[in-house]
Amino acid sequence: MVSLQFYGGIKEIGGNKILLEDTDTKIFLDFGTSFSRRQKFFEEFLTPRTANGIGDFLAMNLLPDIPGVYREDLLEHIGRKPEHPDVQGVVLSHAHADHANYVSFLHKDIPIYCGKACKCILEAVEEQSQRDIENEILNFKKRPLHRKDYKKPPIERKFKTFRTGDKLFIDSLEIEPIAVDHSVPGAYGLIIHTSEGAVIYTGDLRMHGTHAKMTEDFINASKEAKPIAMVTEGTRIDVSKTNETEKRVYNESKKEISKTKELSIVDFNFKDVDRFNTFYKIAKELNKKLVISFKHACFLERYHKDKKIKSPDSKDKNILLLKPKRLTGTYIEEDYTDSYIKKRLDYPNIITAEDIAKKPFNYMIVLNFYYFNMLVDLKPNKGTYIHSLSEPFNEEMEISFERMKAWIEHFNLNFVQSHCSGHINGTDLKELIENVAPKEIFPIHTTHPGIFRTLSAKTRLIKEGKTYKL
Ligand SMILES: [Zn+2]
Repeated sequence: MVSLQFYGGIKEIGGNKILLEDTDTKIFLDFGTSFSRRQKFFEEFLTPRTANGIGDFLAMNLLPDIPGVYREDLLEHIGRKPEHPDVQGVVLSHAHADHANYVSFLHKDIPIYCGKACKCILEAVEEQSQRDIENEILNFKKRPLHRKDYKKPPIERKFKTFRTGDKLFIDSLEIEPIAVDHSVPGAYGLIIHTSEGAVIYTGDLRMHGTHAKMTEDFINASKEAKPIAMVTEGTRIDVSKTNETEKRVYNESKKEISKTKELSIVDFNFKDVDRFNTFYKIAKELNKKLVISFKHACFLERYHKDKKIKSPDSKDKNILLLKPKRLTGTYIEEDYTDSYIKKRLDYPNIITAEDIAKKPFNYMIVLNFYYFNMLVDLKPNKGTYIHSLSEPFNEEMEISFERMKAWIEHFNLNFVQSHCSGHINGTDLKELIENVAPKEIFPIHTTHPGIFRTLSAKTRLIKEGKTYKL
């Protein structure tokens, strides 16, 4: 018997945890953080208590309370008996937090399968993040964490990486991962060959990006597999075809930056290599240096090492690293305690905000809203700011957006919105589904599951935790 169960990421954007069972084999497809669910109860100064381990996460339904899944130390911490793992593997579709981060809570003996580039990104995230119970994906420290154990090395998880063309065998299941186009490299769609037939999982994907051909290959292979079921993302099922493309972001941004006689500032998600390359190209063509942060360097160096991802090294002649002000604020070596900064302090291409402020026209700086206090030193009067991210789609984001706009106004910056979504639009997705022609569809990662009912495939509107036999 083959069945599916869904936890998180159903009528919400992200947080996917899909349990697929085929006789004695159980696997999870993704195990992500549901941010909307987390935001329902928690905020900046009200967070799940690390001191209560997994307790707050289970009690508030941020994690499903199911046996044979979680870390032994975390179960013991809340007075439960440790359990043997009852799941043979977790396959991650890609490295976005809403698909990967709650791997943090999983039993150490459950192997994690992911794309090679996905692992690179998870490593970059780890290098520049503070350890936190919600981001212990690659490795974890046993809880409760006593002071005497601070220096003990963490427990490493078992990762198995793949590329397109590889086949994964998890007990009786054979899985074909096929790279798809999304706003992060190393994103995969999965064809899972079960005893009842093929089950397709789209992960997150799109048709309008730079690598549409990859998504097409996935669609063709999925169609050939004559799937009995398809679990599909539906982030933008309510949006009809748009004219957004990466090329358009390039054209719009280049035009605006060309007009600027002062500093150019851009903000985008650094996990998006296509977007990085768009702005890197613009900077080069306009004879500007692209200034990135030490955090960005952690990503760029890993992308550069991956031969399939074409991007420059962090010491490239067109790239500079912006030195942040820490402790004394005088840029002396002892101010820097974070190892990801310390190990790069001898790079030849480091610059300070004060130096940029002397000749702002020469630079294009990648600056996220959370680092806007640096604008005080950059003094970017009358420059251009390109917001190359999605527009706010919930209340928290609206509040941050308003605050961001206040900074933009304060420094007389020209605000430009230019973005190309990582998710497939409704028109393309409907076409994709008709094309693949699965017997049944299970829409997830969507606030509009009902729209799928208008399609010819039988649509199952999912209830959390319910078992769906295939
Ligand atoms: Zn994603």
